[in-house]
Order: sequence, then C-alpha cells, then structure tokens
Amino acid sequence: MAEVTLKDVCKIYDGGVMAVKHFDLNIQDKEFMVLVGPSGCGKSTTLRMIAGLEEISIGTIQIGDRIVNDIPPKDRNIAMVFQNYALYPHMTVYENLAFGLKIRHVAKEEIHKRVMEAAEILGIQEYLERKPKALSGGQRQRVAVGRAIVRKPEVFLFDEPLSNLDAKMRVQMRAEIAKLHTRLQTTMVYVTHDQIEAMTMGDRICVMKDGVLQQVATPLEIYDHPSNMFVAGFIGTPPMNFFRGQLVEENGNLSFHTGSVCFHIPASWREKTASYAGKDVVFGVRPEDIGSERAESEKDAQFLEAKIEVMEPMGAETYLYLDYGQEARAIARVDAHRQAKIGQDIKLAVSMLSAHLFDTTTELTIV
Ligand code: ADP
Repeated sequence: MAEVTLKDVCKIYDGGVMAVKHFDLNIQDKEFMVLVGPSGCGKSTTLRMIAGLEEISIGTIQIGDRIVNDIPPKDRNIAMVFQNYALYPHMTVYENLAFGLKIRHVAKEEIHKRVMEAAEILGIQEYLERKPKALSGGQRQRVAVGRAIVRKPEVFLFDEPLSNLDAKMRVQMRAEIAKLHTRLQTTMVYVTHDQIEAMTMGDRICVMKDGVLQQVATPLEIYDHPSNMFVAGFIGTPPMNFFRGQLVEENGNLSFHTGSVCFHIPASWREKTASYAGKDVVFGVRPEDIGSERAESEKDAQFLEAKIEVMEPMGAETYLYLDYGQEARAIARVDAHRQAKIGQDIKLAVSMLSAHLFDTTTELTIV
C-alpha cells in the first residue's frame, strides 16, 4: 500500500520541450486517481515518470516512504498496463501471466497460485491455454491487467488501457477496472483523454492542460465547481455553454448582457462580481441547466430567447441547438417529450443557481 507524491515535477525532453511543468500532486493510499486532459497535455509523461520509464528533469517523486527519482522501474513496486497490451504472442495466457514472476525467480507454486488468483478475478480461467491471437480485444486487455495483478504491486499505473477497445467493450472494462480497484484496495493512477472515463472511474480527477495541472478534485466537485474555463469546457458532454458579454450595473443591480440576452445576476453573486461591473466576462451554463425542469422551477431563473436550429433526440432527453443571435449558439438538454420543432422560437429558463462566471483575461472562475 502506498501514497504517491509528486513535488514540483518538471519534464524537459531533449530539444527543450517542457512537457510537464511544476507538477504537485498527492495521490493517497488506495486512491483511484485519474489524470485527464487533451492529447499532448503531458499525462503519459507524468505516468511514465512515476513508473521510472522517463527521467525526472526537476522535482521529486515519492512512492510510499521512498523518493524514487534514482530507483529503476523494476524496484519501484509498481505495475503498468499499457494501451497496446504488449502480450508475448508465442506464449499462452498462463505463460504471459507467469512470465514477469518467473524472471523474478518467484517459486513455481507461488506463481501458480497468483496466476490462478488473477485469472479468477478477471474471469479468464478458461483461456489460460490459449495464445493471445485467439483472444478478443477485451480478453487480451484482461490478460494485460492480469499481468499487473500477479505482481502484487503497491501502485497500478494504467496508460489509456481501454483506447483500443470498441465502445461497448470500453464501457464494460471501465466497470471491471473500477470493481478491481474496490477488490484489490490498491493505489491506482489512470491516464485517459476521455472525460467520461475520468468522471466514472476516479475517486479524484486531475485535469491537465499544456503540462500544467488545472484542478484536482472529486468528479462532482470538478463538474459543479470547475476552477477555470478550460476545466469547465473539458468536463461534461455536451460541453458547458459560454456566453461572451459584459456585466452592466444599473441602479445598484448587476446584469449580464450579450446581444439581446440579459440575465439578472443573483444577489448571492454580488460580492464576487462587484469589481467586474462594466467589464467583459464569460457567462457559463451547462446544457442541462437550460430549459430543464430544475431550471424552470427555480425562483430566480432567467430566460434565453432563441431559435431552435437542430434537434437531437437522445431517447431520454433531447439536445436543442439554439441560435440566440449574432452567430452565437448554445445547447440545451431538455426533456425528450417537450414540445418543440426546428425553426421554432423558444424561451427557456436558465438556472442561475448552477451558472458560472469567468474572467475573460485569466479564464479563472469568478463565481
Ligand atoms: P499525453 O499523454 O497527454 O498525450 P505526452 O505526455 O505523451 O502527452 O506528451 C506531452 C508533450 O511532450 C507533447 O507535446 C509531446 O509531443 C512531447 N513528447 C512526448 N514524448 C516526447 C519525447 N520522447 N521527446 C520529445 N517530446 C516528447
């Protein structure tokens, strides 16, 4: 069991690319931490530095009570699962699972015990004598996870392990890895570019952009209280709507204006927004906070008047693509049975309790 602590970690690749910048993160013992961000944001580099596959340019990484900067990967007591399963094609599943232990000279009986245990956990007992080419993608991925389990590591590191699977298998494996975490009670660090994987699997999520940590928090905290526009826009599908406009003060009351849109700012925002009167700001609201039952029943809800451009019925709900003037668009997630049609002018409640305000320059959250 182990904590993983990164202190002021930087990675500068040959040629001067700074892929990870002054990264501070404490991953608690038994925690499932997801590193998420767009391609190229430095997630794999961070994971590979924890694994010892990349040198740490600046800073320290501690696993358990040891600083591991100078400890080779094999002595770090970690096990890594990669996107390309990297199974040995000429070995059976059993041999693939056993191989890592064999080269560490673990006793034969112990190897057998651990292989059978891992096979049972992953439900792959019946494939033990097969070669990898006779397995489906999902089964191969289970074997790759099994190879990590038999090692009984202190920390599991996953690098986009589900990217090669089809959509249905990804959903299934996502749940299996989450279950595995509950069963093994081991620290896990999981890298993905997929915000849904991050939301559904992580105890906490660490959002990265351009090598810089943006926010670390539980999935719901990140969703409800994003620290900046990047996090707000990256987490959630369809993404948060951003309205670019100004805060205007009239008779001591603040309102947000863009084109013909006017939202009165609730009194509870006043303290945080006072210094923004007369300035450009970005108003953010998630699609489910426009036109939803919750928005409509809110006392201080404001209203958006728009034309429905496109409708996407998803079954349980419908996405409305709204044109509210000046080429500006927003998406609303409304009840599937709400009466609406393309081209219709519609007036939808906007929840102010769930809305956000961002600083245009710093893109940091104001409210
Ligand atoms: P992610 O996993 O978030 O997609 P990476 O950690 O793979 O991102 O890469 C972060 C940045 O570092 C990217 O700009 C990438 O091009 C660069 N990079 C990755 N590996 C190397 C390398 N071996 N040499 C130079 N630059 C690299």
